[in-house]
Amino acid sequence: MSYLNEDQELMLDAVREFAQTELRPRVLTELERDIFPYDLLDRMKELGLPLMAMPEEYGGLGESMVAHVAIEKEVAKENMTMALIGTNCVVASLIVRMGTQEQKDRYLPDLLETPGGFAFTEPAAGSDASGIEATAVKDGDEWVINGQKTFISFINQANYFLISARTNETGDGGISAFLVPKDTPGLKLGSIFHKLGLRGSDTGELFFEDVRVPAIAMIGKENKGLHAALSLLDEARLGVASCAVGLAEAALEKSVEYVKGRVAFGRPLATKQGLQWYAAEMETKISAARALLFEVANDYDEGRSITVGAAKAKLFATSVAVEVTDRAIQMCGGYGLIEDYGVERLYRDARTCAIIEGTDEILKIVVSRQVLS
Ligand SMILES: Cc1cc2nc3c(=O)[nH]c(=O)nc-3n(C[C@H](O)[C@H](O)[C@H](O)COP(=O)(O)OP(=O)(O)OC[C@H]3O[C@@H](n4cnc5c(N)ncnc54)[C@H](O)[C@@H]3O)c2cc1C
Repeated sequence: MSYLNEDQELMLDAVREFAQTELRPRVLTELERDIFPYDLLDRMKELGLPLMAMPEEYGGLGESMVAHVAIEKEVAKENMTMALIGTNCVVASLIVRMGTQEQKDRYLPDLLETPGGFAFTEPAAGSDASGIEATAVKDGDEWVINGQKTFISFINQANYFLISARTNETGDGGISAFLVPKDTPGLKLGSIFHKLGLRGSDTGELFFEDVRVPAIAMIGKENKGLHAALSLLDEARLGVASCAVGLAEAALEKSVEYVKGRVAFGRPLATKQGLQWYAAEMETKISAARALLFEVANDYDEGRSITVGAAKAKLFATSVAVEVTDRAIQMCGGYGLIEDYGVERLYRDARTCAIIEGTDEILKIVVSRQVLS
């Protein structure tokens, strides 16, 4: 079943062509070596991908979420890092939704040009975003920010960071969100981590030492910054779910190709019932994950809340991606473990999906709250 109209199918074809001919050859030589291919991001901008879902009045294509997830999934089949940065503009879309006209005029031109980073996690506060220790103190017309953030994605690529800081010492609600330009005096970049998956995305630390921002930099209401973060997470989680489905689809395609071509005991491996059953299980689970992904994307397009739906879609698609990519390694035997063959990377990237934008356990809390309410 196709979820896309004719124009969207044509766009998907163009994205597939880009991903297979331009992105694919750069994955092992650059992205997997922690080298970010800036020119490929420029190509994705030419194709309109980062602003695909942005309303036309802001220079976007005004595409539906259904088209967005289909395209993000297609890029993720070749590389998840480029799918995340090259088909999204979550910080800009937050400013469109929550920013004042003055904030839109001031920040959107830059954020529409270069994706913004999202910096909420701290060394002592990850899943529990309310446990942050960074502070922002009012000084005249400015806020003075001190503290540390960690695990921040695309730290070298972003020019702005949406950060959280404590603006009130008491209560859960005492957190505000600020947009901070990377070149603000006192903002320093720390270590970049070498990770299991999502290589190519520079993930690292940010330090704030008396970083001064004007009052206009506060996004949303004072002491209500977690609300800003949560509203951004719904879309981000659906994006990770699209990537997880893409990784699983790619793993199934590669393992099917292998067992069809590989002859053992006198016949192709694809004739062995044990492996046929693996393929059937993989296909069934991917179909279910894909259907849930598109159902939630459609809910978004029809104006329904996707907080629980996005949590379910990410949770399920991630478990399918981890299982299917693991099984694909098994089906490809020794080749499954070799970097050049490309299957082991799908497993490593799938594994990161269970941590980023809310761990599996945190998503289960979101879903169970609704189930048990
Ligand atoms: C590649 C990568 C990119 C990232 N990018 C960003 C980014 O751009 N911006 C950003 O702000 N952050 C980012 N993060 C951080 C990410 O959001 C956190 O790693 C994640 O939220 C988990 O936090 P933590 O690592 O501190 O683990 P912890 O919060 O210490 O959790 C450890 C374990 O305990 C479990 N746990 C925690 N609380 C509960 C509970 N109540 N019940 C049951 N189990 C629980 C968790 O699920 C997890 O399994 C990134 C992380 C990675 C790995």
